[in-house]
Amino acid sequence: MSVWAILVAAGRGERLGLDQPKAFAKLGEEPLLAEPLHRLDECEWVDAIVLVAPPGWEEPSILLAEELGCGKVSACVPGGETRADSVRAGLAEVPADALVVLVHDAARPLLPADVVERVLAPLSEGWDGAVPGIPVADTLKRVGADGTVAETVSRDGLWAVQTPQAFVADALRAAAAAGGDATDCASLVEARGGRVRVVPGDPRLLKVTTADDLAKIASWLA
Ligand code: C5P
Repeated sequence: MSVWAILVAAGRGERLGLDQPKAFAKLGEEPLLAEPLHRLDECEWVDAIVLVAPPGWEEPSILLAEELGCGKVSACVPGGETRADSVRAGLAEVPADALVVLVHDAARPLLPADVVERVLAPLSEGWDGAVPGIPVADTLKRVGADGTVAETVSRDGLWAVQTPQAFVADALRAAAAAGGDATDCASLVEARGGRVRVVPGDPRLLKVTTADDLAKIASWLA
């Protein structure tokens, strides 16, 4: 089966407070984007990569891929207004004969290869998609804007879901074409009745949102 990866890196990353997009924030000496790009390129399960760059940053993204020797990068396109739009832009570059599409957030730089293997496995067992997740350990509360607790939500059966997320290509294409926005791709597939399975994720797949997250990931890499 041919596996195409879409690496979505077009987020603005406003909470990092930098004057460049999150993908070009420094993780050690390199732009953040270098780490997930290199890891996907090295991954034996991935055949080709579509890089979705921050609009206006396509050229530095391509140069970075070349510098890193990422030979699997087949296209680099600008992202859209929302994550779902960026995924749609990436999907447009995936050839019709691709069987599986793996979507990964560049903001989760530490991509362990065994997670890729885990999300791909259910696709050959009839699932439309598979996502890595971690059972929620903290107590969950719904809180009003003024800090008042409205309710405590049962954490029974709740999982925090990460990327990479793997899909039968046709299932993701149909779900993405239906439009709409969502914070992950699986929600789009679920909304059309697709069967999505959760497999064990990895705490190292932390998503960079703040400068503290960047520092934490840099320390894990050191
Ligand atoms: O904003 P959020 O943290 O949900 O972003 C998750 C991933 O989606 C990041 O890797 C980000 O670069 C990407 N993204 C994108 N296009 C957008 C918004 C987010 O490619 N418009």
